[in-house]
Amino acid sequence: MRAGRNPEDIKLIAITKTVDINRIQKAIDWGLRIFGESRVQEAKEKISKFEFRNSKLKIEWHLVGYLQKNKARIAVQLFDLIHSLDSIELAAEINKNAEKIGKTQRVLIQVKLSEEETKHGVAREDLMDLMKAVSEMKRLNLEGLMTMPPFFDDPEMARPYFKELRELRDNAENSGFTLPELSMGMTNDFEVAIEEGATMVRIGTGIFAGGS
Ligand SMILES: *Cc1c(COP(=O)(O)O)cnc(C)c1O
Repeated sequence: MRAGRNPEDIKLIAITKTVDINRIQKAIDWGLRIFGESRVQEAKEKISKFEFRNSKLKIEWHLVGYLQKNKARIAVQLFDLIHSLDSIELAAEINKNAEKIGKTQRVLIQVKLSEEETKHGVAREDLMDLMKAVSEMKRLNLEGLMTMPPFFDDPEMARPYFKELRELRDNAENSGFTLPELSMGMTNDFEVAIEEGATMVRIGTGIFAGGS
């Protein structure tokens, strides 16, 4: 492939917000196994139906949207991986709820690299403190970083954001953290994200738009 990456190193997360369960079922039939939702409540309704129907398949559910502290308990019950950890308070809440059910919760830290008010994530200046705090929480397993650049028509415009996330990761690894995952790239810009080192791409409309 163009980026010279091994396709096995890149996981496709099918983003199913607003996608109904019949279409998710079709995606499972096509062979997709990792699904991402952006809202806890919507995910809860869907996942409860799938657990029963697909109990023999290894399906993963990821939370890719903003997580409020008061939803941490449900999120820990539902999700294999939370991409949107962005504060020490939220980390503590996830850790506490994971402890209660004897789970180790996999998490990514979402980093805010753009100035847009609407984007969530920890500021780059606060990333190191958050990583240190998370690494001391016994029920959290920090696997990497996530970011979401502004939307651009030209995907090349997103490249600096992806590059910066990779550099933040590389710097953190030089300080002793192990952060294999980089969750970055969506329908419009995933190729650029892969060139810059993405290990997880989050694709919604590219899979589910149009048709049924
Ligand atoms: C909706 C969403 C996506 C998928 O976006 P598409 O442009 O439809 O591929 C990826 N990540 C997050 C956090 C999202 O909310």
